Amino acid sequence: MSLFEPGALAERSRAFEGRPPEEILAWALAEYAPRVAISTAFGVEGCALLDMAVAIDPKVQVFTVDTDFLFPETRELMQRLEERYGLSFTVFRSAEPREVLEKKHGFALWSTDPDQCCALRKVEPTRRALAAVDAWVAGLRRDQGPSRAGIQILERYDHDDGTPLVKVNPLAGWTRKDTWRYVVERGVPYNPLLDQGYKSVGCWPCTRAVREGEDERAGRWAGSGKTECGIHTFMERKAG
Ligand code: SF4
Repeated sequence: MSLFEPGALAERSRAFEGRPPEEILAWALAEYAPRVAISTAFGVEGCALLDMAVAIDPKVQVFTVDTDFLFPETRELMQRLEERYGLSFTVFRSAEPREVLEKKHGFALWSTDPDQCCALRKVEPTRRALAAVDAWVAGLRRDQGPSRAGIQILERYDHDDGTPLVKVNPLAGWTRKDTWRYVVERGVPYNPLLDQGYKSVGCWPCTRAVREGEDERAGRWAGSGKTECGIHTFMERKAG
């Protein structure tokens, strides 16, 4: 039965509940090869996923978005991961270069209109990256906060032309603790900012360390009410 028959993807997703992320990942990489890629912003979840994926397919496709505002620690981590896993990440950037964006919108668009800044620097490049795949693997967890509590392991979206896109969230059922246990036990490289009070690392103008008891994404766009950059919300989820 095709996974795109009504209900089939949801049924498969339910069957994966409680299964190890490696099993879900191995299934996705085989089912959708070669049109499957992992997206990462190099959070601890992305590092764990990368470690699992390379063990399954050493040539796994991985893409990231460079907004021009990454922390130096994130850039160094990218290099360390490429060296450790023998991979070369595909890097997408805004359609227009930084100088043009700054001329049009000012230097600090993140402060005057963070939604537009994310739309130009994150969402549009991600949309371009996803055009080349049928399946998109991401490192989202349900316990990252209210905006992610309802994610499914397999989710159905549509490309702009109406063709299906499956999003795979192998870590959906993992907790933050599960992820850290994996990373520490396997010696997976991670962002040193995560040892300095940051729990989620994005662009430097929009990220701060979090305080005791705060939600792990509270340091992103703090005080603005914004909780997501848009790359995980710009498409409407369809019934699976
Ligand atoms: Fe711009 Fe901040 Fe979004 Fe980065 S996170 S794209 S700097 S608004």
